[in-house]
Amino acid sequence: MDAVTLPPIPFLDLKAQQARLGPGLRQRLDKVLAHGQFILGPEVTELEGKLAAFCGAKHCVTVSSGTDALQIALMAEGIGRGNAVFLPAFTYTATAEVPLLLGATPVFVDVDPRTFQIDLASLRTRIAQVKQAGKLKPRAIIGVDLFGQPADWAGIRAIAAEEELFTLDDCAQSFGAAQDGDRLGKAADATATSFFPSKPLGAYGDGGALFTESDERAALYRSLRTHGEGTTRYEVLRIGMNGRLDTMQAAVLLAKLEVFEGEIARREEISRIYDAELAGVVETPARVPGAQSAWAVYSVLLRDTAQREAARAALQAANVGNAVYYPRALHQQPAYAACHDGAALPVAESLGGRILALPIHPDLTDDQALRTAATLREAVTA
Ligand SMILES: *Cc1c(COP(=O)(O)O)cnc(C)c1O
Repeated sequence: MDAVTLPPIPFLDLKAQQARLGPGLRQRLDKVLAHGQFILGPEVTELEGKLAAFCGAKHCVTVSSGTDALQIALMAEGIGRGNAVFLPAFTYTATAEVPLLLGATPVFVDVDPRTFQIDLASLRTRIAQVKQAGKLKPRAIIGVDLFGQPADWAGIRAIAAEEELFTLDDCAQSFGAAQDGDRLGKAADATATSFFPSKPLGAYGDGGALFTESDERAALYRSLRTHGEGTTRYEVLRIGMNGRLDTMQAAVLLAKLEVFEGEIARREEISRIYDAELAGVVETPARVPGAQSAWAVYSVLLRDTAQREAARAALQAANVGNAVYYPRALHQQPAYAACHDGAALPVAESLGGRILALPIHPDLTDDQALRTAATLREAVTA
C-alpha cells in the first residue's frame, strides 16, 4: 500500500472515547439540563468527593481550568511582587505565566535530561543565586509532573522544608499518576490539575481542580474561586476571581471518571509496546523508579534536530499523528525574556530540538502503535 493511502492514526481520538462512554454520558448531561443548576450544581459536589477519594486527598476544590487552579493556589499564599517562584524551564507556559500575572518573578530551573523533570541540583543552585542577589524573596516551588510522570517530590519537599518554601504540584498532565502506590494529589502543599480535553482526565471544555490536606487552604480556595466571598454570597472578604468549574463539565467528568483507571492501564500497555519496539532506535522516556505514569504524552528523543525533522516528515507522510512538546524552553520564549536573569539552562535548551511525541490515547490499537513505531524505526535507521 502506498504510504499516503494509509488510514490516519490520530494523535488524540475523543470521538472514539465518546462512543465508548455510551449512554451514561448523555444521562448525566440530561440530568443537568433538567435540574438547571448550571453553576455549583450537585454534580460539582459529587465530583469533588469522587476526585478526592480517587487520589486520597482530604480536600478537592474544582475550578475553571488548570491555569486558574495554579493562580488560586498562589493567591491563597499571598504570593506577588518581590517574590521568587521556582519552576522548571521545560513546561507549558501556564506554569510560569501565573506567577508573572500576580506580580511575582518566575525563576527558571533546569531539568533532568532523561526524565525531563525539575533537576534538584539546579533547583538548589537557583535558590542560592536568588538569595545571593538579594532582590527577590524565595516563596514557592512549582514542581511539574511533566508528560504524566511524577516529579521527584521527596527531593522537592526536602529542599522546600530547608528553605521554608510553599510547594505547588502542577499536576495538569498527570492526574492519576502514582509514586510508590500513592496517587498524586498530596505530594505537595497544594496540587493543581487540569481537565482540558486532551489531558488524561479531560472534560468537554475547560476545567481544573485543587487538592490539599489543609482545611484552611481548602476554605480559601472556595472563597477565591467565587470572588473572595465569605459565609454569605454578598460578603466580600478578599479579591478573588470567577474561577468555578461549571456543572456540565462536572457531569462529563463523572462519566469519564468511571473508565479512567482502565484508560491509564491502556496507556501503560501502549507505552510498553513503544518501549519494546523503539529500544535502541531512539531514547525512550525514562521510567521513574516506583512511579506509575498517567502517560499524557509519550515523548522520545532523537539524535539531533535533523533526525527529528526527518522522523516527523516520515510520520506525517504515513498519516501518523505526532507533536512537539515543547519546541523551546520557556526562558527562550519572547514573553519571558524580560523576567529571566540570563542563567544558562543547558538541558532545557537542548530538548526542544530533539523531542517528539507519539500517539498514546486509550483508543489507540496495538496495530496502530506497532505501525507508528515501525514508521519511526524506518525513518531513523534509513
Ligand atoms: C495544560 C497545562 C496547564 C494549564 O491547564 P489549563 O486547564 O489548560 O488551564 C498548566 N500546566 C501544565 C504543565 C499543563 O500541561
